Amino acid sequence: MDRQQEFVLRTIEEHDIRFVRLWFTDVLGTLKSVAVAPAELEGAFSEGLGFDGSSIEGLARVFESDMLVRPDASSFQILTWRGERPGTARMFADIRLPDGRASMADPRNVLQRVLTGAAKAGYTFYVHPEIEFYLFDKKPASGEIPVPVDNAGFFDHVPHGTGQDFRKAAIMLLETMGISVEFSHHEAGPGQNEIDLRYADALTMSDNIQTFRAIIREVALEHGLFASFMPKPLAHQPGSGMHSHVSLFEGDNNAFHDPAGRYQLSQTGQQFIAGILHHAPELSAITNQYVNSYKRLWGGAEAPAYICWGHNNRSAMVRVPMYKPGKGASTRVEIRSIDSAANPYLTYAVLLAAGMRGIEQGYELPPESEDDVWNLSDQERLAMGLRPLPASLDHAIHLMEESELVAETLGEHVFDFFLRNKRAEWAAYRDQVTRFELDEYLSLP
Ligand code: GLU
Ligand code: MG
Ligand code: MG
Repeated sequence: MDRQQEFVLRTIEEHDIRFVRLWFTDVLGTLKSVAVAPAELEGAFSEGLGFDGSSIEGLARVFESDMLVRPDASSFQILTWRGERPGTARMFADIRLPDGRASMADPRNVLQRVLTGAAKAGYTFYVHPEIEFYLFDKKPASGEIPVPVDNAGFFDHVPHGTGQDFRKAAIMLLETMGISVEFSHHEAGPGQNEIDLRYADALTMSDNIQTFRAIIREVALEHGLFASFMPKPLAHQPGSGMHSHVSLFEGDNNAFHDPAGRYQLSQTGQQFIAGILHHAPELSAITNQYVNSYKRLWGGAEAPAYICWGHNNRSAMVRVPMYKPGKGASTRVEIRSIDSAANPYLTYAVLLAAGMRGIEQGYELPPESEDDVWNLSDQERLAMGLRPLPASLDHAIHLMEESELVAETLGEHVFDFFLRNKRAEWAAYRDQVTRFELDEYLSLP
């Protein structure tokens, strides 16, 4: 046992922890949990703990349903909201095959593989997400439209606001779990909130995002509310994005920073953006994985629909935020297409892979877009070489199917499972006849 594992066992004794939950994530990004008795942990650290993986989305084919979970001691946290004593704690766990090898179906493992590749080139990948979500008064019954908890807008201060009390409670809980919050505010939609997490390496951040979603849902329930990360829950209102600010560090040096560069952006930073833009269409099924995701992307309200980059341009898919003088370490790139329902492990894996491809192959950054690309005509966009993001999940699936980069990054198992799952989702959606169609077409011609 290493020191971290010993520390975990000691803490469990000192705090009278009776339940330890091992958390992992399925291919679609749903958090899974198995509780173990503290007495089992020593064995779980050394050999892993057996469980039947066959009923977890994308985890195993039936003939290899025996899987192991191996807890990652560095992620140990006491779950304060579960009450003091006897206490509950959690650790993230890696999924292993019975012979101890990492499971190719574990999204955490997919990200770890890409991070290891970047580390070989000398880079650490940091991420800082801005997570948007809606608060509704309750979970609506099937067929009902969700009702937001307030009618406020961007940055509004709502006296005695439900959202404000909610954010305070949620942020306090996040801090006790070791997740620092940088910024929080009311977003533009009614009942819509945003909470920005302080940057961390991409693996820690993906774990943090999973914890964040669980906490937000818990706190909402405690307040008698319902929180949703659905990309576009309300027609005619903004969707919920998970804009992510990313950077690569070589040791203590920000590889995206060059004081002489435009917007202080280094050549590495430019090539990274070029990689993201070049591969954006084929990554879309991962960064925007649901039928509903495309209603956000094509719904305006500051969500990007065209592949371009800009400086202070909020219609751009990638933005190089304002440079703070003297803060070279903060040079970064904001990727704005990602939505709040994305699987963070797979999303950061494919984005890093695309950015690294841009660096390795010296991709050239296209010219900056200064206009509001939404307001240009199709001809103007065509003349400027502005390609659209896919307009539907169906289109995104087809583009991903052709992608050698995504296949290589996800590995065959996740790639195949994901595509199969998404084709089925598209087929189920196509089977529906919607309210809109009845209203529009019933009395035609
Ligand atoms: N809600 C917008 C989106 O879906 C983002 C608004 C903002 O710029 O923060 O991307
Ligand atoms: Mg926002
Ligand atoms: Mg943003």
